[in-house]
Amino acid sequence: MIWAGLKMSKQGTVSASDLGGLRPGSNDWKEQAQLQKHRAVKALQSSLRMYELNEKIKSTLDLTTRLLDIEKESELFSEAVKVLTSDDGMGFRDASLLVLEEDILHTACSTLERGKKIFPLDGDNRYAHWLAAAREPGEPGGGSGNELMVELRSRGRLLGLLEVVQHERENTLFAGLDSFLEWRRDMVSRIGEVIAMLIDNLRLNRELKRQSTVDVLTGVYNRSYFLQRVKDEVKRACRYDRPLSLVFIDIDKFKEINDEHGHLAGDSLLRELGSLFRRNIRNTDVIGRYGGDEFVWLLPETDLEMTSSAARKLISELTDCRFDLSGGGTPGAGVAVTVSLGAASLLPGEVEVESLLRRADEALYKAKNGGRNRLET
Ligand code: GH3
Ligand code: MG
Repeated sequence: MIWAGLKMSKQGTVSASDLGGLRPGSNDWKEQAQLQKHRAVKALQSSLRMYELNEKIKSTLDLTTRLLDIEKESELFSEAVKVLTSDDGMGFRDASLLVLEEDILHTACSTLERGKKIFPLDGDNRYAHWLAAAREPGEPGGGSGNELMVELRSRGRLLGLLEVVQHERENTLFAGLDSFLEWRRDMVSRIGEVIAMLIDNLRLNRELKRQSTVDVLTGVYNRSYFLQRVKDEVKRACRYDRPLSLVFIDIDKFKEINDEHGHLAGDSLLRELGSLFRRNIRNTDVIGRYGGDEFVWLLPETDLEMTSSAARKLISELTDCRFDLSGGGTPGAGVAVTVSLGAASLLPGEVEVESLLRRADEALYKAKNGGRNRLET
């Protein structure tokens, strides 16, 4: 390749005329040969740079498609870091994704073993310093040469930070070429945009899902989501011949609490009870608000005997609680609250959700008529 452009004589040697008057063996000739060699190496380096960049630009698209279907944030971070650092991905030596939560950057996923996982924005750490430095939003910057950092921003909000570290060999390859450095910065910026957009989308979806399934006041599932779950669980219990139980929980004399302490205090009690119920049920149970002051509790894989014992435990848990309905949080000034419960279990051959609900409701009616603060089945 060094000899490209030089013509060979018939004997296979280079003639003096071919060398434009240069005599083989002279210093001029050696210098020219060195120069040619240098140019060839430069050309090779340029094509390698082009190749590397091309590959990385292609990988940006690959990154998007590989990350699009992910539904969990933690999975998104680890897959993104994998794509950024794998040889068939973008081939960075290291990559870190940090997520901002209440002014603290947390390492969500990283190939760097730096030990420290938490970086307060007002602290003395390189991320905080970098973020504090004045720069255009979205513009990547770096630390000590090999690193590039980019803010993860979506809809104007800072969500975190992406840091990539390139291999030494790559650094040598790109050295001194501003336009290439510019391209590479641009590419890391684009990657940051893609990741930020995906994080934001995941969070929006999660919030939408939460709002469509959860009762805003009490934090337990809403009626329509709960009923869907009951339907699914009844089907499953019938198919596999498994036990399933359901309990209605209704606050006793809630109207009086509203009348005496005000509607807002009533709301606050509903909220407190919602979180108490959530704390006191198993992970596999489902708790929902059926309406007004009535909650529903679904217990998969649980027969009536086990359900009754869980329900009695809940009643005794509540017996020990006092609720501050004055709004002032006065110690010892709490109000005792009781609930009535009606439980029913799926009978053999029972496939109708409505009949299970009706039997549990009838049991609740019995509990109310029997003097309240009790469980009936
Ligand atoms: P019982 O022991 O027979 O259940 O008596 P109760 O007073 O609890 O029963 P009732 O069904 O008569 O009253 C329920 C009350 O719950 C009536 C309604 O004003 C109140 N309520 C329903 N939804 C809400 C709410 O979101 N917030 C507040 N503060 N009150 C609510
Ligand atoms: Mg009530």
